[in-house]
Amino acid sequence: MNWKKWYKECGLCPRECGVNRLKGQQGFCRQTAELKVARAALHMWEEPCISGTRGSGTVFFTGCHLGCVFCQNGQISKEGRGETISIVRLAGIFMELQAKGAHNINLVTPSHFVPQIIEALRISRKMGLTLPIVYNTGGFEKIDTLELLDGWIDVYLTDFKFMDVHLSEKYAREEGYSFYASKALEEMYRQTGPAVFDEDGMMIKGIIVRHMVLPGQSMDSRQIIEYLHETYKNNIYLSLMNQYTPSGDLEKFPELQKKVKSSVYERLIQYTIRQGVENAYIQEGETAQESFIPDFDGYGVLPGSDT
Ligand code: SF4
Repeated sequence: MNWKKWYKECGLCPRECGVNRLKGQQGFCRQTAELKVARAALHMWEEPCISGTRGSGTVFFTGCHLGCVFCQNGQISKEGRGETISIVRLAGIFMELQAKGAHNINLVTPSHFVPQIIEALRISRKMGLTLPIVYNTGGFEKIDTLELLDGWIDVYLTDFKFMDVHLSEKYAREEGYSFYASKALEEMYRQTGPAVFDEDGMMIKGIIVRHMVLPGQSMDSRQIIEYLHETYKNNIYLSLMNQYTPSGDLEKFPELQKKVKSSVYERLIQYTIRQGVENAYIQEGETAQESFIPDFDGYGVLPGSDT
């Protein structure tokens, strides 16, 4: 694949900025065509079927094409923290994570570097990479770009952040978020089908949809839970997160300067159960106090679930 062609007039995500990233131009994601990685390490605090006992081999890519105002990872997503590396070096990082015992390779916020990531996967597969590949995204994806990933990705770990168009416009400058996120989910499901686990309970194929509850927005959360279950039943997994912590410049958003009450979260769990959702992860305890996306712990499962 000639990966460079995708960066000439960039339309890798629904923002469709049309900038020439090969010439150093930047679009909404603030990244040129130089592959930039902020962190690569074993990560113990994803969902249990992703982190397992040895950790998920996470690779954090610099920049983000969604840019939520409440992002808890702003140094990487907005301020550009990270190092420029080659495609071959990225393949080497995948191999090193495998050698360290990672259960999988977990690509975090990868959308704006997809063509180079595919090249790195191609190289690392030839070098002996056998791990499942997890695509960890904010959910704001373009079908054409997801189609490039068909056959390369085993597990989609994707957010569904907002249903309401006004909410996504207000917090992520994108009223089409739920339209794109739902279309993306359709394509992800076409690629993976229902969830498959290995003998150790690790997800090796399938979809986990994360939804982080925002303060004052539990009605939006309910709509998302309802939509996901009506559409995919128990063929996908829901991860309902209570870890929202005020972060970043929220001066214009006073409603976001507080945490989600535990009673609100508890009612959403009960709502989830009433909807008939059986496959879901929930967070237990005061995880929000320690949160730093995507590091979180204290997972539980829905009462009555065998997850
Ligand atoms: S990947 Fe970046 S430059 Fe390309 S369309 Fe999306 S935001 Fe714009």
